[in-house]
Amino acid sequence: MGLFDTILVPCPKCSEKMEFQTKSGDCSLRSFDLVSAPKNMMKDVNRHAPYKCSCGAEFQVKIKNKSVKWLNPEKLYTFTKEELDYEFNLILNKALCLKGRIQQPNSNNIAEFIIKYMNDEKI
Ligand SMILES: [Zn+2]
Repeated sequence: MGLFDTILVPCPKCSEKMEFQTKSGDCSLRSFDLVSAPKNMMKDVNRHAPYKCSCGAEFQVKIKNKSVKWLNPEKLYTFTKEELDYEFNLILNKALCLKGRIQQPNSNNIAEFIIKYMNDEKI
C-alpha cells in the first residue's frame, strides 16, 4: 500500500508550507506541522528531499532539532565604496542629462533628483 503521513514544512524563503511525505510513522494519511510531528514520523521526513519550492528555494529538514535547512540560500553581494560611487555617478549623470541641467547638484537636492529620475524612467 502506498500510504504515508505528511509533515508540513515551511519554505525558508517564502514561508509557504510544503508537504513532506514520510513512511516511518503510522502511515495513516495524517498531516502534522513540523513542530508537532511525532518523532517516529520525523525519521523518514527527508525521503523525497530536497524539496524545491515555486519561489526557487531548495530545502530539507534537520531532523535533530526540527529546523529547516535551506540548501541554496541566495548570496548577498557586497559593494565596495568605489563601486557604489561609480553606480551613483552613472545614475546622477543620466539624471542630469535627462533634466537638461548642467549645474552641479548640491547635497540637498541629490536625493530628490534621483527619486525624480527613477520615477521618470520607472527603473
Ligand atoms: Zn518558497
